[in-house]
Amino acid sequence: KNWFYKWWLFMRLERGGPIQTFYIGNKKMPVVERGEGVYLYDEEGNRYFDASSGPVTCNIGHANPKVLEAIKDQSEKVCFASHAFFENRPNRDLAKSLVNLTDNKYDQAFFVSGGSEAIEAAFKLARQYALACGKIKKHKIISRAPSYHGSTMGAFSVSDDIEMKENFQSLTKISVKVPAPLSYRMPDNFDVSSYAKFCLDELERTIVNEDPEEVLAFILEPVGGLSTGALVAPDFYYKEVRDICEQYGVLLIYDEVMSGAGRTGQFLAADHWKGSDPDLVILAKGLCAGYSPLGALLAPNRIVEPVVSSGGFLHGHTYASNPLSCAIANAVLNEVIEHNLTENARVVGDYLKKGLENLATQLSIIGDVRGKGLLLAVEIVRDKATKSMFSIDQRAIYRISELGIKNGILLYTRKTSNGENGEWLMIAPPLISTTDHCDEFLSKLNLTLKDFQKEQGII
Ligand code: PLP
Repeated sequence: KNWFYKWWLFMRLERGGPIQTFYIGNKKMPVVERGEGVYLYDEEGNRYFDASSGPVTCNIGHANPKVLEAIKDQSEKVCFASHAFFENRPNRDLAKSLVNLTDNKYDQAFFVSGGSEAIEAAFKLARQYALACGKIKKHKIISRAPSYHGSTMGAFSVSDDIEMKENFQSLTKISVKVPAPLSYRMPDNFDVSSYAKFCLDELERTIVNEDPEEVLAFILEPVGGLSTGALVAPDFYYKEVRDICEQYGVLLIYDEVMSGAGRTGQFLAADHWKGSDPDLVILAKGLCAGYSPLGALLAPNRIVEPVVSSGGFLHGHTYASNPLSCAIANAVLNEVIEHNLTENARVVGDYLKKGLENLATQLSIIGDVRGKGLLLAVEIVRDKATKSMFSIDQRAIYRISELGIKNGILLYTRKTSNGENGEWLMIAPPLISTTDHCDEFLSKLNLTLKDFQKEQGII
């Protein structure tokens, strides 16, 4: 019996057969053994530079000693105590430090287990706020196309991805979309600025068409994530979005799941555009930096108070306000503050972006480099002059990612909307990265892209 079990395990695990957890596909991946700083190691001893902090999550790198200590300390005190019975100190401390880090623009925080849950919480808070103010018709949420706001039904309904829509749209009500101000693949006869202006006009037109009395909120990623490859709009876009929302009484929600917690060189990406602050902000990923699941909704008193005084927020999850996750996030934020990692993201991000732009002058398959701080992306094209893409069968970004693994770099990517809007590699290493790390990465990326070009017969 024993030998049979060993053989069965060998066939399943070692031979790359189906294993008993399922995720996106059946592709064979290295088995991770440990992480340290900006590197991950597999069971065979290979070292990988975490060039995208996982899915733009591990902001302070791996095995941070202060965070490991906080995990131990809090675990020894209490790992879980339901918010139905207790408040907890780490939760209060975390809310307080987020209020400070956002310059008191937001007075309260609501903690959940990740980005999608925080998006759902934002929509429910917005709706309850409208009800509390007697604006009972307000229920429509406008979002951008393309966009990604998460996998739960509400978050998915405001996301725009063809593949997801084809599979799941019958399960939920898809929200109204306006175009995102793309900066590389604009429709004909537009430049970056005129297209952003067009997108603003579309936003206003859509609010009017949908009836401002019914439009509850507009949600956007201030610096794009995977669905737009670190898209940054021209500066005027942000202020004008704020003005349009103000004019029609529409709440503005920033999804800062990827862009928040210091990644773009400000604690919130919103801080890059003064006077454009959103009403609600969503954080996740970098907030707990991969050490524990955590998401947060930040809100000002003017929105929370009417909801609380009209009976309370009708929303919650078992793990909301989890003391262990909050204690870990406190340790993560202490590291961000103590080591000035937000500023490091700005400085090292500029350095890395210049390095990528330099690579783009040497390699014909880099069509565009964009982003802010350490939230960057490199768009891959077959022909730079025409911006034409590789065909789906060429699996360009997936193949590049496989070659990256061989060369010791982890590249995060996914062909969103079947690649209709282009395809890119997210370049978002931990905020502790140095210029030396960037140099090492750039030379391995160069090698990887050249390997791919060689395979494709491109010189
Ligand atoms: N919003 C954005 C911009 C994201 O990138 C993601 C995840 O990638 C989410 C929301 C959903 O977060 P989570 O995967 O933690 O549910």
